[in-house]
Amino acid sequence: MYSSSSHIDTHNTHDVFRSIRALDTGIANHESWYNEVHQSLICGSSHSSSDDLREDAHCCCKFGKWLYSQETDALKPLDTFHSVVDKHQQMHALAREILIKSGSKESIVEKEYRDFTSRAMDFKLNVRNLQYKLMSQVCVVDHLTGTWNRHVMYSKLHQEKERQARTGHPCTICMMDIDHFKQVNDNHGHIIGDQVLKTVVDYCRTSLRKYDSIYRYGGEEFLFCLPDTEHEEASAVIERLCTSLSKHPVTLPNGDDLFVTASFGMVSMQKDISLEDSIQAADHALLCAKAQGRNRVCYWEDGLTSFE
Ligand code: GH3
Ligand code: MG
Ligand code: MG
Repeated sequence: MYSSSSHIDTHNTHDVFRSIRALDTGIANHESWYNEVHQSLICGSSHSSSDDLREDAHCCCKFGKWLYSQETDALKPLDTFHSVVDKHQQMHALAREILIKSGSKESIVEKEYRDFTSRAMDFKLNVRNLQYKLMSQVCVVDHLTGTWNRHVMYSKLHQEKERQARTGHPCTICMMDIDHFKQVNDNHGHIIGDQVLKTVVDYCRTSLRKYDSIYRYGGEEFLFCLPDTEHEEASAVIERLCTSLSKHPVTLPNGDDLFVTASFGMVSMQKDISLEDSIQAADHALLCAKAQGRNRVCYWEDGLTSFE
């Protein structure tokens, strides 16, 4: 049994957007700090913040305070985040050195100044890069189910097709459509419908292999890509998923069990058939599975045109 009581997974997306906005604020704070450092160096005024002379200056500026308070899952796994942390610390170390020299009226050699400005530039580029990475994360993922969305599907599948042409390895795609899903919405409401949809996709994800990918094709229709997989092996994976899905009810928030089934249409990608035609063939096989009574898997073969 599996449960749909967990919240809709909008949490990560919100975290990501919050981080993107915080980085904008961070860049603005960084720029005003950078201008103050220059004012201090050029005008010879005593620098406004003694924090910049501390060894842990990188933890004391506004950006540093934000950076070191970050515990979110959105940022920690990204290499670019760790790179921003490093560049920020190095930039403050160089600023500290020249500010100390300037304060004690020692001359600052050109190389020291250039190192500082280029490190500051490097830091800013890394922050922009981090924003870009976060932005692309939310642009390619379906908000409700966490699967890849349709925008990214074509580019990923084209890559897979090129890989197949290069290596000669087989690849199978499968279209899944949840059966009678309109009734779920009609009987339980759209919000529960959303939760059921997400729970079914989570179940599919755990049933597929880690190198298989899931794309939201539209509505309650999903496309699976099973790389390096011949027809027989792919059939076994999908048949198993179809059967186990039908036997495992979704537990609704009110405690009731809801049995959900799905229909599947499969096709092997072939090098002389375009990706678009392969997707259409999988869709055609799916229509056959629906016409034959749903809760089943159909495989597309040449000449399969009847829905009997
Ligand atoms: P069939 O077995 O023929 O596929 O029947 P069906 O009811 O699943 O198919 P139909 O195309 O008539 O209805 C699909 C329903 O899926 C209608 C639509 O409101 C619902 N749906 C699509 N996307 C979402 C979504 O994101 N959330 C919710 N709650 N419902 C959705
Ligand atoms: Mg359906
Ligand atoms: Mg549908």
